[in-house]
Amino acid sequence: MNYKNFPMVSKIMFGRGSFNQLGDILDPKRLNTKAPFIFYVDEVFKGNAWLTSRIPLSYNDKVIYVSSDQEPKTSQIDALVEEIILTQKEMPSGIIGIGGGCLLDIAKAVSIMLTNEGKSEDYQGWDLVKKPAIYHLGVPTISGTGAEVSRTTILTGTERKLGINSDYTPFDQVILDPELTANVPKDQWFYTGMDCYVHCIESLNGTYLNAFSKSYGEKAFELCKEIFLSDTLSKEESQDKLMMASWHGGMSIAYSQVGVAHAMSYGLGYLLGTKHGIGNCIVFDHLEEYYPDGVALFKQMKEKHDIQLPQGICANLSDEELDIMIDVALSLEPLWENAIGKNWKKTITREKLKSLYQKM
Ligand code: NAD
Ligand code: ZN
Repeated sequence: MNYKNFPMVSKIMFGRGSFNQLGDILDPKRLNTKAPFIFYVDEVFKGNAWLTSRIPLSYNDKVIYVSSDQEPKTSQIDALVEEIILTQKEMPSGIIGIGGGCLLDIAKAVSIMLTNEGKSEDYQGWDLVKKPAIYHLGVPTISGTGAEVSRTTILTGTERKLGINSDYTPFDQVILDPELTANVPKDQWFYTGMDCYVHCIESLNGTYLNAFSKSYGEKAFELCKEIFLSDTLSKEESQDKLMMASWHGGMSIAYSQVGVAHAMSYGLGYLLGTKHGIGNCIVFDHLEEYYPDGVALFKQMKEKHDIQLPQGICANLSDEELDIMIDVALSLEPLWENAIGKNWKKTITREKLKSLYQKM
């Protein structure tokens, strides 16, 4: 059992304006007139007719706006599933997520929990999901996380922040329409874009690296450099390329792992609610020791786009609070093994992580 046999997104549509074809894609997937499509849409689009008027609704289909101010929680997923079970006569025909990593992860998790018993936190981990999810389709509206292509959905539970990693997690269909990313605020564009950049650096500098991951990682890395450091791209080209960089970055970590920045950023996310993209930036800024070239380039990108990262977010934390973050970070063993190697425990001590967190 040396090699993993991974599923991939089954169908993918790419192109500016491709979102207009959502109805054509969904039509044949409708099970019957009582089995609705449920659309989870980022609240940022509420009242935005340019996007919402193109969501094809018929019969009992439902749009549910969800805020992405906080990252998805297991309790939130359980409540959304409960709501469907209580209000619908039949199992939905499908779940559609429209938004960033938060909304994509919500759609994935709900589609899994509609067919699997119990609570979503029972499935946080690797390969714990027993039954196939219902049909789920993702439409990213901001690029970088790779959530559109990955086999995980990251949830914060009562005890941990951890993904539901399973063969049933990847989307059945993704629509990549770069036009949808047009109105992302600049800082958020940078933070989520840097998630992709950090995926590349952690994958390409990890001990798990192999030709599969390298080919995707190198492509994504090249695209990130063009997007964040060159002056030659039009707005549209830059949007198109970042969407593809996100895809390749996600593919790159499918067959390897992320590393130090992600492990430590999960700690920040769990304790302080720091969101994934900005959290990775805050951490990565202090990781010269582990990724010297990657961090140097990151600092150039930050400078070029005039990004001011929050400082001192851990300055006033108690030892107990630091311990909680350190526990979360250290529990992500595959990330450390990828980043440092089999003997990572020799150098990645609690004291080491404490001193790094205290710089942030
Ligand atoms: P997000 O979903 O947190 O959204 C970030 C912000 O951008 C929100 O305020 C949102 O309203 C706004 N936004 C999104 N699209 C917009 C648009 N077109 N115009 C204007 N505003 C827009 O962003 P993210 O960084 O893509 O996702 C972070 C989440 O993804 C975290 O929960 C993280 O855990 C998860 N994640 C998942 C995976 C995975 O493989 N499943 C990988 C990495 C991160
Ligand atoms: Zn990430």
